[in-house]
Amino acid sequence: MHKQRYTLDTVIAAITAVRTVIGGPVTQINSLLYDSRKLIDTEHGLFFALAGRRDGHQYIPEAYAAGVRNFVIAEHRIDVAQFPEANFLIVRSPLTALQELAAFHRSRFNYPVIGITGSNGKTIVKEWLYELLAPEYRIARSPKSYNSQLGVALSLWEMDDAHDLALIEAGISEVGEMEPLQRMIKPTIGVLTNIGPAHDAGFPSLQTKINEKIRLFSDVPQVVYNPDYTGDAVIPASGRHFTWGPQGTVLEVTGYEPLPDRGCRIHARYAGGDVNISIPFADDAARENATCCWAVLLAMGYPQATIETRMARLRPIEMRLEMKQGINHCSIIDDSYSNDLSSLSIALNFLKQQHQHPTYTVVLSDIPDGANNEEEIYNSVSKLLYNNKVNKLISVGDTFLRHRDKFRFLTHYAFQDVDHLLEALPELALRDETILLKGARKFAFERISRALTTKSHETIFEINLNAMEHNLNQYRARLSDDVKLMVMVKAFSYGSGSFEIANLLQFNRVDYLAVAYVDEGVELRRAGIRLPIMVMSPAVASFDALLQHRLEPELFSFSVLDDFIRLLDERKITDYPVHIKVDTGMHRLGFSTGDVKLLADRLQSTDTVRVQSVFSHLVAAGEPAHDAFTLEQLAAFHEFTGRLQDALGYAFLRHISNTAAIQRWPQAQFDMVRLGIGLYGIGAGEPPLALQQVGTLKTTVTQLRTVPAGDTVGYGRRGASTHDRVIATVKIGYADGYDRRFGNGVGQMLVRGTAVPTVGDICMDMCMLDVTDVSVEEGDEAVVFGDVEALARTIGTIPYELLAGVSQRVKRVYYQE
Ligand SMILES: *Cc1c(COP(=O)(O)O)cnc(C)c1O
Repeated sequence: MHKQRYTLDTVIAAITAVRTVIGGPVTQINSLLYDSRKLIDTEHGLFFALAGRRDGHQYIPEAYAAGVRNFVIAEHRIDVAQFPEANFLIVRSPLTALQELAAFHRSRFNYPVIGITGSNGKTIVKEWLYELLAPEYRIARSPKSYNSQLGVALSLWEMDDAHDLALIEAGISEVGEMEPLQRMIKPTIGVLTNIGPAHDAGFPSLQTKINEKIRLFSDVPQVVYNPDYTGDAVIPASGRHFTWGPQGTVLEVTGYEPLPDRGCRIHARYAGGDVNISIPFADDAARENATCCWAVLLAMGYPQATIETRMARLRPIEMRLEMKQGINHCSIIDDSYSNDLSSLSIALNFLKQQHQHPTYTVVLSDIPDGANNEEEIYNSVSKLLYNNKVNKLISVGDTFLRHRDKFRFLTHYAFQDVDHLLEALPELALRDETILLKGARKFAFERISRALTTKSHETIFEINLNAMEHNLNQYRARLSDDVKLMVMVKAFSYGSGSFEIANLLQFNRVDYLAVAYVDEGVELRRAGIRLPIMVMSPAVASFDALLQHRLEPELFSFSVLDDFIRLLDERKITDYPVHIKVDTGMHRLGFSTGDVKLLADRLQSTDTVRVQSVFSHLVAAGEPAHDAFTLEQLAAFHEFTGRLQDALGYAFLRHISNTAAIQRWPQAQFDMVRLGIGLYGIGAGEPPLALQQVGTLKTTVTQLRTVPAGDTVGYGRRGASTHDRVIATVKIGYADGYDRRFGNGVGQMLVRGTAVPTVGDICMDMCMLDVTDVSVEEGDEAVVFGDVEALARTIGTIPYELLAGVSQRVKRVYYQE
């Protein structure tokens, strides 16, 4: 799918291979592959076995089976003889090899490469520069925020002869990471956005962080930065310095003023005169990012007048890809702010991961930057849709019409513009489909998005899928080799969703899922979840559904065991996988430890079931005061499983650790652990884990009114005050999961960045806030909670209750950044 082609020989020459084993046809290499779940263009792909959470070498059989024939691997990791038709380049480090290849590729182009680094704003500055420079340049740029060791290599691979400028982001989180990035990017213009004061775990001090970031600028002919951020660092003097910000800089910012309807004007001194730009935003971050872009354009020699016109038209950058509920039981994946090949490929990948509906539909606009290599671009689009098994294409724009013949393998509806599409929407009869919306900005796909999503609900629970993946990896990193991972997705994944989360977990290759009830498991199966699923409270009445959907029951007493065995006998089913729960101190469900002999006898007397796992639950794994008790539980579990194993004569998985135990009791991992609340970002505890917040509950201000001193607010005449107040009514109440205990000032919400207290009692569907000190408008958003840990404490409960309590009528919106 890529234009640039290298022969395998060229690749071998570009990287430092220890040796090569050539078994297959020597083809051209067009695509870089690194994830066996994202294989495209397998025939011309080169697979790098990267060391991630799981070793990439493990996935070589899968990639080979899918047709990949070229691999870059480390020495002594696999037996290459097993893959007789493949070519292997054996190297010290596959990641370094990938970076060498990217560096080689980049070195072939002589056009300007703008390298952007900093703590915040990298992606915004990159996207804004893209808009500002687009009239003159054909630009290659990092997709989304691909700025890591791997992301930069992949971004550089996007460069080709059709471009004449590249915008590449570089992000680091540890000392030592910038040098490899610098060697690959070799920027001709270096841009520093800003440096946050935050103490990052990867850097011993702020100054080390600064010094590390500016390594990107070694040997750069031109650097653009704000000296406020560089501290005592010495920016390499070889280049031309274009500084902006404080007094004495080249572009000296002298002030700014808000504009009447929206936005602000930024004033500066430049080249002896007064200059200014107006932008349609007024927040600090936007002002800073816009000033940074202004400096870059001046440094590149753009006339001030041109800059002014373009700055006034800057648009917000939507970097999120959101998944929402659509009309007629569809799921909508909304990425309607950009359309180019690389972001399309990322979005299709997400589509493939979320396969709850049988039909994949993609709504695409024309791809704008393709004027001179249209043929090739639409061939690539066609290939991407084909490889990702898309069933239906709805296209918008004339170019797609011209390339109709490339899309004959799927159902294709072509429209000239969005208006025609919207008119025809009822006839398209979209139903039970997963629909990806991807349109270049000028097509304003927001209109399609509005038409396809169910009535916008003004109270939503936003789920950050990147954060969830991050948390998953934090816990995974703590597991010993070969320890399996079960994830608890009971109670709608602790309130965060159901099949959406399960799909993410399946994609991330966890080993097991667990739900509380058979119904929950059935829903996951219907959404295409193939992972084994344990059901913790299977009712006899639901055994049929359980068998039908290949769900695995937890058996916790002789009566459940006997009922289940009886049913299997009737059905003549043998070796059905079951999970035995043993009570080691929780005293909730489970066989007693004293029953081991009886249980073993009963299990041996039948061939209907096979014990897949035996588990128990710790009652206080996170509480040091009860460590002695935890040790007793562990000992009891060890003994019980040992005796059962001896009696049964075969091995089963043993597991007892929940989130807190994964963190505090590495010796208790046995064969598997059960991750719960930690996935949702809660329970950083000791030793601290860098967890990220997953869920944010948001609502909307429906009405504002001034309430005179002495008047009360809400039921029961509470919430009086001695002064006049502005009261905002918001659309969330206890029926949505906003606990009544948050009433009368106990709870606070964030409105325009300010924490404001509740007033009066919480009602069923609404509650009131005192917004006297904030300038608020009707329709504003109010953040109900993000950090549930602190919030739970204020009403004497635990985060579990707040999360699981967000009612099902609150819409979940999932997003990826
Ligand atoms: C819910 C649950 C877990 C997960 O607990 P966390 O504290 O959320 O990690 C583990 N095991 C069992 C049996 C559970 O019911």
